[in-house]
Amino acid sequence: MDETVSMKCGLEIHVQVDTNSKLFCTCPTNYNEVEPNTNICPVCMAHPGARPMPPNKKAVDMAIMVAKMLGCEIVLDKDIYFQRKHYNYPDLPSGYQRTSVPVGEHGKFLGVGITEVHLEEDPGQYKPDLGVVDYNRSGTPLIEIVSDPDIKSPEEAKEFLRQLLRLFNYIGNLRGEGSMRADVNISVNYNGVQGNRVEVKNVNSIKGVYKVLKYEFIRQKNILRRGGEIKRETRAFMEAQLITKAMRSKETADDYRHIPDPDLQPIVINKEWVKTVEEKMPETPMDKEKRFVEQYGIKLEDAKVMVADLALADVFETVVSELGKEKENISLAVIWIRNELRRVLAYNNIDFLESRLKPEHITELIQLITGKTISQKIGKKVIEIMVENKGEKTPKQIIEELGLTVIDSEAVLETACKEAIENNPKAVDDYLTGNEGALNFVVGQVMRATRGRAQPNKVVEILKKLINK
Ligand SMILES: [Zn+2]
Repeated sequence: MDETVSMKCGLEIHVQVDTNSKLFCTCPTNYNEVEPNTNICPVCMAHPGARPMPPNKKAVDMAIMVAKMLGCEIVLDKDIYFQRKHYNYPDLPSGYQRTSVPVGEHGKFLGVGITEVHLEEDPGQYKPDLGVVDYNRSGTPLIEIVSDPDIKSPEEAKEFLRQLLRLFNYIGNLRGEGSMRADVNISVNYNGVQGNRVEVKNVNSIKGVYKVLKYEFIRQKNILRRGGEIKRETRAFMEAQLITKAMRSKETADDYRHIPDPDLQPIVINKEWVKTVEEKMPETPMDKEKRFVEQYGIKLEDAKVMVADLALADVFETVVSELGKEKENISLAVIWIRNELRRVLAYNNIDFLESRLKPEHITELIQLITGKTISQKIGKKVIEIMVENKGEKTPKQIIEELGLTVIDSEAVLETACKEAIENNPKAVDDYLTGNEGALNFVVGQVMRATRGRAQPNKVVEILKKLINK
């Protein structure tokens, strides 16, 4: 039987703004680091008579910046007011969540339409299994990004979120992956029959979103295939079982009884305000990749790999400026940062910032190699030790402490070469009868005996001289 099946997915992504204080009061936002219910005040606990302060300026700035970076038009010279979105849940002491009307609209990111970007306050945290509510998070500023239903597969959703998190990382001042939560909307079309839209709430990782979409696609397809109807409903993701479960029939906007918050003045954003935000706006990852290729003449593939980690991209630029912008210095920086440094970071399962290495130490390491103080092989070892030491020691200190400098004494090298020749008569014979490759084996023995401290080309030179004598 022929089947034509497709899906449409839209995402509502929430990310916390990294402000010191909450959106409408001066309580700190470090809710993870303190005892439950200590970062609270009458405002974020919604005590009678407590009035919210005007919204945190930095949070509004960041909403404007995120909207701009996603290609949105900023809503200018109009009242942007906060609405009260009513619902009852133990994590919401006021019985409503404050959520703004759009700050930006009609954007586009990776070909996916961005419906709108707005500000919200985070509720507290209710732990039903413990019967505990912690209000420390209550009132933490959130930015919500609503996408159009343009995403057509779980893989596309994964890539979209991955790139979005990278953008958050570039923008800074956002709590990126750790705070991200997404509501996932999905509908399926089966042989021309369009199913209703289902919303899966509060998925807190990219992997989770991917699994939700995989699961829902199959579930909805199977219902439609049997001629059934997809209920318009809200579902929850049961992460441990990898399934979604019906929570409630889908509410409409009316069910939340939205009303403008009478305690808050609307925000009005003008062109000047947008301009001050634009001045602080970083280069997007895509622009940086393009610039790296044009400015440094490196391969797009190399640029992509380094730009994927903003800190690593910065290291590359620092190292190149310290080494000098000649072509060979640029290639060395690519080799040692893109290949070697990344290899060691990946092995230790950390990123550059976590490694606490300093860019100038990478420059120093490359200079020690080009200056022939250490061999390339030792260079690889030094970079491993630098990461082990969490950047506390300079490459110079490491090679001095461990005695890793290149052996340039001809006499010492000759002794090592003579020994290798005596111990490997077969390889030497093979070489003498025309097998050039056999010499590499002998070179390897010398490198091993000198613990990598000899320069291989120097060893080859001495070996040839001794063997051909
Ligand atoms: Zn407070």
